[in-house]
Amino acid sequence: MDDPNQIADQIRLCRICRDAPLKVPLPHEPRPVVVASCTARVLIAGQAPGTRVHATGLPFNDRSGDRLRDWMGVSRDEFYDPAKFAIVPMGFCFPGQDAKGGDLPPRRECAPTWRAPLMAAMPQVELVLAIGLHAQRWHLGDACAASLTENVQNWRAVFMRNTRPRILPLPHPSWRNTGWLKRHPFFETELLPVLRREMRLFIPDNS
Ligand code: SF4
Repeated sequence: MDDPNQIADQIRLCRICRDAPLKVPLPHEPRPVVVASCTARVLIAGQAPGTRVHATGLPFNDRSGDRLRDWMGVSRDEFYDPAKFAIVPMGFCFPGQDAKGGDLPPRRECAPTWRAPLMAAMPQVELVLAIGLHAQRWHLGDACAASLTENVQNWRAVFMRNTRPRILPLPHPSWRNTGWLKRHPFFETELLPVLRREMRLFIPDNS
């Protein structure tokens, strides 16, 4: 089996979106951000780095990350411990922004190139937090619904499927989704307690 950290080292050298893009080249130097792990039992599958993550090279090092850690009930130290969490977004490089200043979707070159071999090198992963529709499409495959809202509303059925790893669909913790969170209170009252309980099962307080 391949070493996930060796694959992550190869990913950090990847320049496909600059040198051989499917369409428009990445408008800046690629800076792949990924945390692989030989031991983490939980994998965080996000979307793609934003500007702050691109600048610092640290995943979820922004307000979205603060909200995600709050959802999970874990500290920064726990979150950034690669023995505990692998952090593998659907696109490893900041994709740039659209005309309105919103982040573009993950680069289409990335997941088909890197995701399957990296996932195969981490068979110890038991739970994937699939954040956003891009991650849900890849990890749920044919079981993915047409919308993020449907996936998250169906979270119990998705979570209880007999798959390894199990999948827990989440919305993106971006502050842009505050309205969605208000319109779907079950997320806070029903899903988050289960997410926090699972984190404590995988990451005991004394580990
Ligand atoms: S987004 Fe992915 S495929 Fe594109 S340059 Fe970065 S690591 Fe390579």
